[in-house]
Amino acid sequence: MPPSGSPTAGSYSYPQISQTNFFIIPAFLINVSINISILTIVSKLNHDYICTIMKESPGMNKEAIRCLLCRRPKCSTGCPVSTPVPEAMALYREGRLNEAGELLFRNNPLSAITSRVCDWRDFCYGHCVLNVKKIAVRWYEIEQEVSDLYLKTAKLERQPEGRLNGRKVSIVGGGPGGIAAAVFLFREGADVTICDSRKRMGGVLRYGIPPFRLDKSYIDSYESLLTDAGVVFKGRCKAGRDISLKELSEASDAVILACGAEKPVRLGIEGEDSPMVMDALQYLSDPGSFTIGPEVIVIGGGNVAMDVARTAARRGISTTIFYRKTFGNMPASPVEVEHAQLEGVRFRVFEAPVKIGDGTVTFRDCENITDPSTGKLLTRIIPGTDHDVRCDTLIPAISERPDFSLFRDMPPIFNQFGFPLTDKSTSNISFMEGGPRNIFACGDFILGPKTVVEAVSSAKKAVEGIITVLK
Ligand SMILES: Cc1cc2nc3c(=O)[nH]c(=O)nc-3n(C[C@H](O)[C@H](O)[C@H](O)COP(=O)(O)OP(=O)(O)OC[C@H]3O[C@@H](n4cnc5c(N)ncnc54)[C@H](O)[C@@H]3O)c2cc1C
Ligand code: SF4
Repeated sequence: MPPSGSPTAGSYSYPQISQTNFFIIPAFLINVSINISILTIVSKLNHDYICTIMKESPGMNKEAIRCLLCRRPKCSTGCPVSTPVPEAMALYREGRLNEAGELLFRNNPLSAITSRVCDWRDFCYGHCVLNVKKIAVRWYEIEQEVSDLYLKTAKLERQPEGRLNGRKVSIVGGGPGGIAAAVFLFREGADVTICDSRKRMGGVLRYGIPPFRLDKSYIDSYESLLTDAGVVFKGRCKAGRDISLKELSEASDAVILACGAEKPVRLGIEGEDSPMVMDALQYLSDPGSFTIGPEVIVIGGGNVAMDVARTAARRGISTTIFYRKTFGNMPASPVEVEHAQLEGVRFRVFEAPVKIGDGTVTFRDCENITDPSTGKLLTRIIPGTDHDVRCDTLIPAISERPDFSLFRDMPPIFNQFGFPLTDKSTSNISFMEGGPRNIFACGDFILGPKTVVEAVSSAKKAVEGIITVLK
């Protein structure tokens, strides 16, 4: 269940607030280009109103009152799963928290998790119309509150006229893509089985993102929600090893491949097979079971590098992140970089590894250059700048790729990026003539390493694809 300290069902009851009490913003003022002075006046008026209303409803998050309930909400269009923010916000303001929770859950069953792990600066928050004045509404806080409350009592139910009644669907992979697909399929009436090579459900949510960023009790809640409803979970069952894709395809009306991207991208340098090199995701899956250090070097500037470095630093291990560009170029969220620094992780930028030796890594200095023909930012490794850095454990965390070995018995058509070719509207995987027509895919397996909310969005698309193809 969600962590203690979260609101419990029924513990919230806000005074009813009529929508007419709010300052209504004429739609044309918002739809036309944003007028900053109007926003200033509105913000002031709303601020005065907040002060009044907060006295009357102390439990309510005041961010709700700052929301302008835009007719064309940019927060929703900026969210990969098009969360209906104004509708949910309006219900929240009226104290109808369960209805708000249900609305969110129906659209995105993982809202309790995405509201915590989304990089909302790029999504809802970054697109909020008030972001022009750097006072965007922190919608995700309300989404967390409402979703937590809903998840505590949520039950999965079949829709009365399910479009997949009696159909059998197998999902390979029980990460966020697989979990979301299972919820959507179950509601449509399908008999759902998930197989996963790991013992428990959750994928990266359970075995990658560290517990200090995401409480694992959320994944336990989803696991119970699905299995209590009758979704079958087969742990330690690896497709391609314990069951072939052909067998799955023949035994089911449809199969969804939601196997994520778990294979580390190699650095491609001398000495990479040294025993001092450790797989980032393997380390994160069970940090306590590995002895690393005393000097740890993490390579990369993304969120995986930050999670690895923070996990090691929190265990008292001396940890340094090396990145070949500079701070502003790091793909990791700036908040994660800041947290890593606060927790004692050291950073060295404009340095790239070129050789792994015995207890040392050789780095070469780099600089940013712009490709004159494309304008793209490139890294130039500066010759003659080699220098050795002491290292006991090296953890490369530069990127991950999906493992396509489960296609061994029936290879699909691959696109120019080396991913299985999928139909744009149905996510149906294309095989050669005579190959199966009932295999679909979602999440990192077809998108490459992305985000939890994008995995949910693509799971939704795959389920709609199955409905279309099986019709
Ligand atoms: C360390 C880390 C931190 C991250 N932090 C964030 C974050 O803060 N916010 C965010 O939005 N995103 C984050 N991401 C990205 C996000 O977790 C992924 O985009 C998301 O988990 C993809 O979901 P998925 O279901 O496609 O794959 P996964 O979560 O990878 O799940 C795939 C599942 O398939 C199983 N599987 C694989 N192959 C087989 C097989 N052959 N047979 C059976 N089962 C198989 C795996 O065991 C796994 O359980 C992070 C990723 C990592 C690695
Ligand atoms: S799912 Fe993520 S991006 Fe979408 S509204 Fe919630 S926090 Fe924002």
